Amino acid sequence: MSLVDQYNRKIKYLRLSVTDRCDLRCFYCMPNGFNDYDEPADWLTFDEIERIVASFTRLGVSSVRLTGGEPLVRKDLPALAKRLAALPGLDDLSLSTNATRLARHAEELHDSGISRINVSLDTVDPVKFNDITKGKLDKVINGLLAAKAVGLNPIKINMVIMKGINDDDVEDMVNFCLENDFTLRFIETMPMGHTGRDAVDYYIDLHEIEARLESKYELIPAVMAGAGPARYVQVAGTNLKIGFITPISQHFCDTCNRVRMSATGTLYMCLGDEHKYELRPLLRHGISDDDLDQAIRNAINLKPFKHEFNEKPEKVVRFMSMTGG
Ligand code: SAM
Repeated sequence: MSLVDQYNRKIKYLRLSVTDRCDLRCFYCMPNGFNDYDEPADWLTFDEIERIVASFTRLGVSSVRLTGGEPLVRKDLPALAKRLAALPGLDDLSLSTNATRLARHAEELHDSGISRINVSLDTVDPVKFNDITKGKLDKVINGLLAAKAVGLNPIKINMVIMKGINDDDVEDMVNFCLENDFTLRFIETMPMGHTGRDAVDYYIDLHEIEARLESKYELIPAVMAGAGPARYVQVAGTNLKIGFITPISQHFCDTCNRVRMSATGTLYMCLGDEHKYELRPLLRHGISDDDLDQAIRNAINLKPFKHEFNEKPEKVVRFMSMTGG
């Protein structure tokens, strides 16, 4: 069984948001003071999530990433992870987190079947970190060290690069990742919601950052396990791999293999578009497994060929935290 969209792309990867809430307020993601969250009654229950993921795995999806909002804000996340990890056909269960709560949960997450994590970290300067996120850097560092200690591997650091905000932190971040054996990935800012659109003022084409690094290090092409769109290089003479995720300067839509589901069961076919399909009403009206599989196939047919972040930056009104980044 496989899920193939109308452009012949095989869908193998589900990004699964378990909450739209977050304990940080990265200015380019969620507005400060925002609290217009989804109602808990609308959140999919763990039973509902498990049913949907089981359907995706029957249809050939083998990778699931838990995300949000901040997924560790959702109570009992490791219990959900354990249920999902046990589903036949699911080979790869991972987590995106801001790591503020990771120190407490790292061991349980590892034991529950999560093998690898991505951690968002835009700077290792505590003052700048607070400016960007309104949070405390030491919690994140403690979370990262705990994750490493329990054997979560690889640990990838996701750094959204913004001109005049953290572009001069790149070398410090390279050193931090070298010291700790983390993978480093740079991400271009995307015009998601009005916060993301405002942050486009700080946009940098990552080819500029790559050229800067090339003047300091010898970078050799590399590959890295994972289902995602990053293009990797390795710093010669070290284990450090650096990934570039360039949705704006060099989109990778032709190889897109993923869809995203919000915490309330809305399936979004594309991060940069509004094509969606509501699964929660179907579940709550007692849909059969066969019909659920068919509904997901119908949804995949809505997947657009490419995002229009460059052509129509005003198009996506959702903040990243509402979709699941
Ligand atoms: N809380 C988790 C975390 O911090 O990784 C998962 C959700 S968070 C929304 C996922 C990623 O989206 C983070 O790396 C964040 O920096 C990124 N992000 C949010 N808004 C963005 C934007 N407008 N452009 C680019 N990346 C964005």
